[in-house]
Amino acid sequence: MEPRLRPWLTDLNAYVPGRPARTPAGALASNESPFGPSPTVRDAVAAAAADLHRYPDPTASGLRAALAREHDVDPEQILVGDGSDELIYLLSLAYVAQGGRIVCADPAYRLDEIATTIVDGEVVRVPLRNWRHDLAAMARVECDIAYVVNPHNPTGTIWPGDAIAAFVDAAAARLVVIDEAYIHFAPPGTDSMALARAGRAVVLRTFSKAYGLAGARVGYLVGPVEVVAELRRVRAPFSVGSLPQAAACAALTDADHLDRVVADTSAHRAELVGLLRAAGLDPVESAANFVLVPTDDEPGLVLRFAAAGVSVRPGSGLGVPGAVRVSVPDAAGLDLVRAALA
Ligand SMILES: *Cc1c(COP(=O)(O)O)cnc(C)c1O
Repeated sequence: MEPRLRPWLTDLNAYVPGRPARTPAGALASNESPFGPSPTVRDAVAAAAADLHRYPDPTASGLRAALAREHDVDPEQILVGDGSDELIYLLSLAYVAQGGRIVCADPAYRLDEIATTIVDGEVVRVPLRNWRHDLAAMARVECDIAYVVNPHNPTGTIWPGDAIAAFVDAAAARLVVIDEAYIHFAPPGTDSMALARAGRAVVLRTFSKAYGLAGARVGYLVGPVEVVAELRRVRAPFSVGSLPQAAACAALTDADHLDRVVADTSAHRAELVGLLRAAGLDPVESAANFVLVPTDDEPGLVLRFAAAGVSVRPGSGLGVPGAVRVSVPDAAGLDLVRAALA
């Protein structure tokens, strides 16, 4: 056997996941919710397990109906994926493959770059200004997809929804994709669901962050009906399992849990920022469940956290050398951070 790796894949700069921590409280490398999913999820998943001999609903119609109510959109405007990462891959296959081009920020969410490179597309990187997307410069780039991550990962910075709407009007891109993985943690007026509802842009959401379901792998996209129909033809028909679908449906029914997670995250983020400042560091102002901490000794700071049992994400793996990204912890995790920085 002599398989021939496609030549554009030889130098692929593959995704590097966060390192595991000694204890769950110290796992601050992957922006997971330390508060876990709603308790209703466990029962829903257990009940769905009785039907594991059946294929899942291929279009996740129950979940799409619930999401359509939540966002006041047509269910045909929604595509559910195996995490929003699958949806980014599908966008690449359908709109970028074989010589297409995307524009994204530099640093970008790594998957936007990887999904483009994999299909032999070109990535145009526009450096951030003051840690935020340079929307004016990005709007001028002629391309197939413009990716805007709002709040951005790895910086946690935001543009208000009206700035995003102006970008969509001005952009030379054929399609604008706004990745709102962290939108629950951002102030009101940040989200762009109205643009997706009107079919003017694609919005990506996930159950991995505020809903605490990173292990279930469920994300969704809202956008023009034609885009959803085209992506549906490309996707693997059963990519979202029945247990993840049940988990996501149950999570949507517990608004109180979501509210508590958002409130606790905001309080703990303020405490985290206080601890970092007290240690002489100057974190970037964040509207997400993590903060980016610039430092002139990235490996040293990573080691200092590691010595206290805290795993953080080195910026050099995220396109921001000279920084570390720290997820917002629970109370036990804050104690570990306090010990690390003491
Ligand atoms: C975490 C994250 C996602 C979520 O990916 P899933 O595949 O849904 O877990 C999407 N976009 C960004 C920018 C993220 O940070």
